[in-house]
Parts: sequence; structure tokens; C-alpha cells
Amino acid sequence: MKKADDQLLVIFGASGDLTGRKLIPSLFELYAADLLPERFAILGAARSEYSDDQFREEQRKHIREELSGREVEEEQLNGFLSLVYYFAFDSVHSVQYRELNGKMEALRKEKGIPDRVLYYLATPPLMYEKIPGFLAENQMNDASDPDGWRRIVVEKPFGISYASAKQLNDHLKGIFNENEIYRIDHYLGKETVQNLLVLRFANGIFEPLWNRNYIHSVEISAAESLGVEERGKYYDGAGALRDMIQNHLMELMGFTAMECPAAFEADQIKAEVSKVFRSVRPFTPVDMPERVIRGQYEGYREEPNVAPDSYTETYAAVKLFIDNWRWSDVPFYLYTGKKMAEKRSEIVINFKSTPHVLFAGQCSGKSCNRLIINIQPDEGITLYFGLKVPGIGYKVEQVGMDFRYKSLSDTPLPDAYERLLLDVMEGDSTLYPQSDTLEISWKLMDPVLEYWKQQGREGLYFYPPGQNGPAERCVIAPEPESCPFLPK
Ligand code: NDP
Repeated sequence: MKKADDQLLVIFGASGDLTGRKLIPSLFELYAADLLPERFAILGAARSEYSDDQFREEQRKHIREELSGREVEEEQLNGFLSLVYYFAFDSVHSVQYRELNGKMEALRKEKGIPDRVLYYLATPPLMYEKIPGFLAENQMNDASDPDGWRRIVVEKPFGISYASAKQLNDHLKGIFNENEIYRIDHYLGKETVQNLLVLRFANGIFEPLWNRNYIHSVEISAAESLGVEERGKYYDGAGALRDMIQNHLMELMGFTAMECPAAFEADQIKAEVSKVFRSVRPFTPVDMPERVIRGQYEGYREEPNVAPDSYTETYAAVKLFIDNWRWSDVPFYLYTGKKMAEKRSEIVINFKSTPHVLFAGQCSGKSCNRLIINIQPDEGITLYFGLKVPGIGYKVEQVGMDFRYKSLSDTPLPDAYERLLLDVMEGDSTLYPQSDTLEISWKLMDPVLEYWKQQGREGLYFYPPGQNGPAERCVIAPEPESCPFLPK
């Protein structure tokens, strides 16, 4: 595999959780696989005081912790850490960017790295506007060398409403070119999500069935068994719809429903995904009660940093329709919840039942045919169909034909961050959402958030931890093909 251009990576928020748990271990994995650029350095920046060596020792611990199931060679670890540097600074003071720039230039000179810098914003979201603003003020947003470039990765959450997302987009686009801005959605870095594109567009057998003539409904879900844990402060202000549906599950819907692009290129793929988003039917005050539902797990209000009278939803489900020829009237159910029975993310294609039932009780009254794309855990793909149970009579049961990633290789699948970091280093934005899809999905979800705000306690259903959301969840999916959503 070709290595990315030589470059300097600057991580803002380098003393934080995301950097220690995800970014640095992923970068180490890329180093171990010899995929990092030939001439490369990582400069971490945050307010905490560390020398380069102290920061390296911190990161050494994080890598060991995150890769605890694996043997990590000390020599390899030292080799990687020799690429890591640290700069203590407060990102709200413009003058300090001059010193940061000085450190960046010195590092580039020392390592022979050309004028190519990748910025990664792993800070609290408040900084997503401030840091780029100060970079521009200090002329750090443009390369001076014609072969140079600047790129910037922005973490989630990308806004908390349409207005804030648009403001952030406009601000960033005033400082960087659109093709230099990478808004990360780590769900798109997962192997099974990429395989969804291959499954759909490398095989002839699915395409004829992939439409309203054969598909009854689609479910896209992300269930978590854990509660809010330490994230109460953030989560109580956000809720399940903002945290998971507006971004991750909507983007998965885009890949599931898109037309085949003319070529496997970022711009072409994004144009097709964008068309899907533009075709989603908006919610209206009249249809809202039949298209959205929310719940809260019992005990949520006693979690640390959660308001004792919080109405924040920890479970949310929405029914979407994509008003185009392929999908007209096929419901897409997007749902997510915390403290559910198990951790599971998947895309389920529920095919229509046979037009005429020959066998009594065939597949328990549901369609025998479902295609399940397991995103996590136990990544894989399963196709279900009805077969006769051996013995006398014709009892039909649903059986599954499986593909499991772990049967292909013992090597663990790469972390989503590994893939996405490599892509941005190479300037490939295929798996990064485009600005318009983010704005459209906020525009769609804003009225739901407003509706729930106005409802307050009314319409918030409580569910015991360890179940699959509130019992009332099937109100929006009354047909047996799609309800109860979980378990299958
Ligand atoms: P943390 O609170 O753990 O880290 C925030 C980082 O920002 C710290 O390094 C902090 O360092 C730095 N920081 C804060 N204020 C300043 C400042 N004024 N100047 C310079 N540095 C500053 O957050 P996370 O790492 O958990 O999250 C970072 C971002 O990533 C968030 O926006 C979050 O939503 C997003 N994210 C996180 C995920 C995760 O798993 N943690 C998953 C998905 C997204 P210091 O105090 O030393 O300045």
C-alpha cells in the first residue's frame, strides 16, 4: 500500500481521553503496519504541562492499556514514541499560536517534513470555532509552499442544531477549503460499513431486490448495554437523537439507500449520499406522534452529573421515508438506546413476505427473508431464509447463512480511527460526511427536538435497564416485520 505524503500532525486536545484512548493507539497501529508517512511527526497540544518525554510516557501507558490483549514490542513502541512531541498552550490565546507555529516549523525542519500540516481538533466542541479562527489570524491555515497543504479534522458533535451546525460550517469554510475539512464520523470507519458498499456494488444479485418492490422495511440501530457512565454532563444536554441518530445512523442510512456511483470516488459517492438526504421526508406536527418515540432508562436521573428531573431521552427511534423511486413508502427505522439488553449495531433489510402463504406458521408469521449487516460486535453479514425443519410435515423455520469476519482472519479488525486517520493523511474523504448531509440531517431532526421539548414529561417512556427500550416503542412500527425492533 502506498504511504501518505510526508506531513506533520498537530493534535489539539492531546492530553484528553480521545487522544489517549483512540488517536495515539491507532497511530501506533499504523506505525506498526508501516503505514505512516516516511517523514512524519505528531505534535500534541493542550494546556496541561508536560515535557516531550513526560507526554511520551503518558502515551506509552495508553497504548499498553488499549492494546492490552496483544504483545507490544518495546523497540517498536520506542520507535513510534520518538515521533511524538508536546506543546503546552492555551488555545484561547491568539498570541500563543505564534509560539506553536514556531515549534511546528522547528519540528518540520528537524524531520525534513515539507509544508504539509494536518490539524486534529480533539478538544471540547467550544473550541471547534475558536481554534480555526486563531489559526487564520496567525496565517497558519494556508501552506506557503505550492506543494504544501493544510487539512483539519473536526470531531463530533458537529453542532447541536441546524443553526449551530451551519454556523460552524460557514466559519470553517471561511478559513479552509471544503476539500480540506474532514468532519469525522467514526461509524463510517468501521469495516462492515465499508463492506456494505462492496456488498451492494460488487454483487449483481442484490441490486434487483434493493428497492420498494422487494423490501418491506429497513432498520438501522445502535444499542448499547452501558449507561451514560462518566459522560452524564455532555449526554444530559444532548440525548440519544443528537448523540447517535442525527449523525451516525443517518450516515449509515445514506450508504444503505444511495444509488450506485458512476465511479468509486469520494465526490461521486458523496453526491449520491447527498441525494438520499435531500429526499428524506420532513416530519410534520401531524405525523410526528407516529414517527418518533423516546424513552429513558430507569435510574438515569441518579447518574452523576444528570439533572434529577431530566427529560433527556436515552432511547430514541424515528421512522423515515426516502421519497424517491427506489424507496417510496419503505420505512427506515433508526433507533438507539443505552442500558439495552446487549451491545449491538446493525443494519437489517427486511424483505417482503411471499405474496401467498403455503405453509402454516411460516417463519412465525414474519417474512422469512432478512439480510443483517452486523456492524459491531461480531462483525459480519447474515442472510436469513425459510427452510423445512427435518421430519414429518412442513414446518418452516428461518435459518441463517453467515459470513463472519473472524472466520477470515485471526487479526483483529482495524479500529475505525485507524482507517479514518490514514484516509485523511492521504487526502481521501470518501468516509467523511459532507457538510450538506450534516446540515440536512439537523434540519430534519430540529423539529423532533422541539416537539420533545414542548412535550416535556409527556411521551417520555421509562424502561428498565437490560431491556430493549420502552414497551411502547412499537407504536411507530406496528407491523410484525419490523417490531419489536430488538431482539430478533
Ligand atoms: P477531554 O475533556 O478528555 O479532552 C479535552 C482536551 O482538550 C484535553 O486535552 C484538554 O486539555 C484540551 N483543552 C481544553 N481546553 C483547552 C484550551 N483552552 N486550550 C488547549 N487545550 C484545551 O475530551 P475527549 O478527549 O473525551 O473529547 C474530545 C472531543 O472529542 C470532544 O469534543 C468529544 O465530543 C469528541 N469525542 C470524544 C470521544 C471519546 O471517546 N472521548 C468519542 C467521540 C468524540 P487540557 O485540560 O490539558 O488543556
